[in-house]
Amino acid sequence: MHEYYLFLSLLSQIEESLNNFINPKIKKIILRIGEYSGVEEAYLREVIETFKEKTPLENAEILFEKDPLKITCERCNLVAEVKTRACCPNCGSYEVKITGGLDVILKSIELEDEECP
Ligand SMILES: [Zn+2]
Repeated sequence: MHEYYLFLSLLSQIEESLNNFINPKIKKIILRIGEYSGVEEAYLREVIETFKEKTPLENAEILFEKDPLKITCERCNLVAEVKTRACCPNCGSYEVKITGGLDVILKSIELEDEECP
């Protein structure tokens, strides 16, 4: 049920960002799924479809993007997209930090709001 908890956490992020609006209706959200996040895009989509009723996502279009695995080399400072988390493609150092591709990120929310009276 990893994806269900992820859905709940996304939902609370979304609800928090709606606090400043009068009557927001979300039209579209974009989620970036890290290639090494362990999250199945198809399964997450299914979870959202199943539980979105009566949430701000009820009528929203959900788009997914892939977030590739990214490393930053601590020796030569190269930032690169890589296939595995092994070593730096530039200098061969193993002192690399993973700086992308491990999480699911709420990239953007597109919404409509009521005009101020
Ligand atoms: Zn390097």
